[in-house]
Amino acid sequence: MSNPWPDRAAALSLPGGAVIDGEVRPARSGLTMPATSPRDGSVLTEVAACDAADVDDAVAAARRVFDSGVWSRASASRRRHVLLQVAAALEAHADELALLETLEVGKPIGDTTSVDVPGMVKVFRFYAEAIDKRYDEIAPVRRDALALVTREPLGVVGAVIPWNYPMLIGSWKVAPALATGNSVVLKPAEQASLAWLRIAEIAVAAGLPAGLLNVVPGYGPQAGEAIGRHMDVDKVAFTGSTAVGRMFQRYAGESNGKQVSTELGGKSPQLVLADVDDLAACATAVAWGIFYNAGQTCNAGSRLLVHADVHDDLVAAVVEIGSSLRQGDPLDPATQIGTIVDETQLGRVMSYVDEGRALGDVRMGGTRVLEGTGGSYLAPTLIDGIDNRSRVAQEEIFGPVLVTTTFRSTEEGVRLANATPYGLAAAVWTRDVSTAHIVARRLRAGTVWVNTFDAADVATPFGGFGDSGSGRDKSLHALDAYTGLKTTWIHLGKDEL
Ligand code: NAP
Ligand code: MG
Repeated sequence: MSNPWPDRAAALSLPGGAVIDGEVRPARSGLTMPATSPRDGSVLTEVAACDAADVDDAVAAARRVFDSGVWSRASASRRRHVLLQVAAALEAHADELALLETLEVGKPIGDTTSVDVPGMVKVFRFYAEAIDKRYDEIAPVRRDALALVTREPLGVVGAVIPWNYPMLIGSWKVAPALATGNSVVLKPAEQASLAWLRIAEIAVAAGLPAGLLNVVPGYGPQAGEAIGRHMDVDKVAFTGSTAVGRMFQRYAGESNGKQVSTELGGKSPQLVLADVDDLAACATAVAWGIFYNAGQTCNAGSRLLVHADVHDDLVAAVVEIGSSLRQGDPLDPATQIGTIVDETQLGRVMSYVDEGRALGDVRMGGTRVLEGTGGSYLAPTLIDGIDNRSRVAQEEIFGPVLVTTTFRSTEEGVRLANATPYGLAAAVWTRDVSTAHIVARRLRAGTVWVNTFDAADVATPFGGFGDSGSGRDKSLHALDAYTGLKTTWIHLGKDEL
């Protein structure tokens, strides 16, 4: 069967305007920025390069609709109904949205159609379905009073997101923020604007009131900083690098003290103990844990910490799997690994690879591939024999690069696992259930997997400790992140008739 995706991509009409107050419009400055495709280096289209003036418009629209009460004071069942319509509309545009993300970030179409779009739709449904099933509280105070504890929406939420999973990560913020009655101003990453420009249009067409979901594409230091410093934004929900996450905390401190939640990077360990049960399953999980999405995953298992007794067998198995993955055109449904997001990121990743080459043994990859396509491809790479203190073991590379370190006791393995500033995710591989529990307790990570990797569900919280940030996306707990508690104390004046 021939591959239909290139023709579909060619026929696609690409979005480019900001979506503010339900209208698609250019930046006030008239400036645009190119949306490029790492598939071949081509410019797909021009996108509005928004700055503070556009962010002002978007925040004003978001505030107006919030204050109107059309959404913030709508019944929970009304919000549920509309958000389910939005989810259905996104599902109806699944192929288009998958294509936009694949073209712009070079992620395989097989992944965007099976993971990113269905995942986003599921997130919208989860929060839509949750919101009319939550009860507020009555506090156990003195009997001549009634104290209600209710959750109120915060107001205008700024969402600033990265390019690696734009639809999914965006939905983790937008869906619970809207479900709880807030308005949203979202800035996508400069490398990945297209999907959210369409999502905002689709949502308005599906019945979401205009002004509730505004999307202002633009560069971080312009559009991003304007959101961070805006005096009328109540909260910023940020996902991205540790450095920029800290900027948002500073912006908040220097402006209106808005809430900031951060989901940042990671250097997540795969801790493989000597008694690992199924080495083949472990090797598969280790390979996919780093090579999926070309390693551009915040919780990628980028450090393999392996007991000396199983090191040789495990590394050989990971190399075998990694070398057999099909890397190529993101528009080919058979492709398993696509591109790095752009040339800048490829250069950054290559500089780490070169540094690692001098320190360890490159057992696989380490080179740019498929250069004739004009695409930004890096072969799956494994560098063995790396000291955990080296930069390649401490810093987030954000590419398909696995570094391996050997240990000789479980105690040493746990110590190495925790020996980075990050704390996003970790896995432990062992057949001993007690060891698994005790090691899981000791690992400093927002998610610990036992004998698996990257298993996830919208029902489980996601986020980290330390340099991985302090916010948690997903699960019912995320609803609390977009609300403030209000106490209403009612004087009864007596406690008996
Ligand atoms: P990034 O450079 O930190 O950018 C994230 C967002 O912040 C983008 O929208 C970016 O806009 C904006 N930004 C950049 N500089 C800014 C500034 N000076 N002021 C205000 N906003 C600014 O991260 P990225 O390169 O897009 O994504 C990769 C990082 O995200 C990795 O570190 C990865 O681990 C992390 N990540 C974490 C999670 C998690 O849940 N923990 C999930 C995914 C990714 P521009 O695009 O214009 O730069
Ligand atoms: Mg960036």
